[in-house]
Amino acid sequence: MTTAAIIVAAGRGTRAGGGIPKQWQILGGRPVAAYAMARFAAHPAISELILVLHPDDMETDLWPREPKAKIVAGGATRAASVTAGLEAVSDSIETVLIHDAARPLVSNAVIDRVLAALETTIGAAPALPVTDTLWQGNKDAVQGIQDRNGLYRAQTPQGFQLAPLLAAHAASTGLETDDVAVARAAGLDVAIVAGDEDNIKITTAQDFDRAAKLMGHNMDIRCGNGYDVHRFGDGDHVWLCGIQIPHTRSLQGHSDADVGMHAVTDAIYGALGKGDIGQHFPPSDPQWKGAASHIFLEHAIALAKSEGFVISNADCTLVCEFPKIGPHQDAMKAVMAAYMGVESARISVKATTSEKLGFTGREEGIAAIATVTLVKQ
Ligand code: MG
Repeated sequence: MTTAAIIVAAGRGTRAGGGIPKQWQILGGRPVAAYAMARFAAHPAISELILVLHPDDMETDLWPREPKAKIVAGGATRAASVTAGLEAVSDSIETVLIHDAARPLVSNAVIDRVLAALETTIGAAPALPVTDTLWQGNKDAVQGIQDRNGLYRAQTPQGFQLAPLLAAHAASTGLETDDVAVARAAGLDVAIVAGDEDNIKITTAQDFDRAAKLMGHNMDIRCGNGYDVHRFGDGDHVWLCGIQIPHTRSLQGHSDADVGMHAVTDAIYGALGKGDIGQHFPPSDPQWKGAASHIFLEHAIALAKSEGFVISNADCTLVCEFPKIGPHQDAMKAVMAAYMGVESARISVKATTSEKLGFTGREEGIAAIATVTLVKQ
């Protein structure tokens, strides 16, 4: 069975607020639609992914770029958009899963249940039995009780054999609200498979909060610390957190001796459980002599990315009497944030003296301590 997934993202729904369609609003750092796209793109049974956009969105940068996805312009109605997606499916495809871009929490288990049902049926879709009591009523009062027996809440992805669904869409009125309705209008049977309470459809601002909470439960968060010291020697400047500061002496080291950047870099390696700067860039290797420390930081960031992590925040404290750090704090944050690809507000650089105690107090060197948090995307 060869299967294509069609993500329908052509709606204009803005009930969730934010001024742009809900599927493009940011949830946990990415557009809502990115989650379902990534889920279907990574599913081993799905060989083709099609994203149906509203024609007005085609030229925008609102939608997430997924290298595997074929991009198609939708139509005036939901049914017309699905038809456009179905027409873009390759000839080799036998079954299609049609999914709402506003359901970011679809699980492989739900997808697998629909696929399993399609082995023996023309159509299958996930749903949950209604458990709440259903009332009929006007705005003010309950006027009756609706029997909930046999009622279900429909979800997506809705799966079908491709040929019968294409025929059903060709005969459709265009007014149906989902593909099960299109299929049923054409006389096709649709099996119900178990849905998932977490497979929510984002409609309101409250749904965003609920989705964020559900995602938070599955988050992989790593924290790492770094500590570094460099001694003072002859010179007229120091490098601290990527900024060159005039000073009466310089920090000594194999590289540019940027003690702050080294502490942050080691914190990233620490969060990943991947050693430290000395292991990745041995001081015995002459090629790193005088090296700019951003090389080390960029290596650690690339390593984090390759393991699927993004930097959530970094906090670095420099311990010294002089030079004064305050005037350079904003520039240091901006430089470090640029290397990390995050906004400055996620980076902290602060300083303290050691009350003239110890080696930092005697101005023999500068120490730095850093904490970094990584979040798996
Ligand atoms: Mg160092």
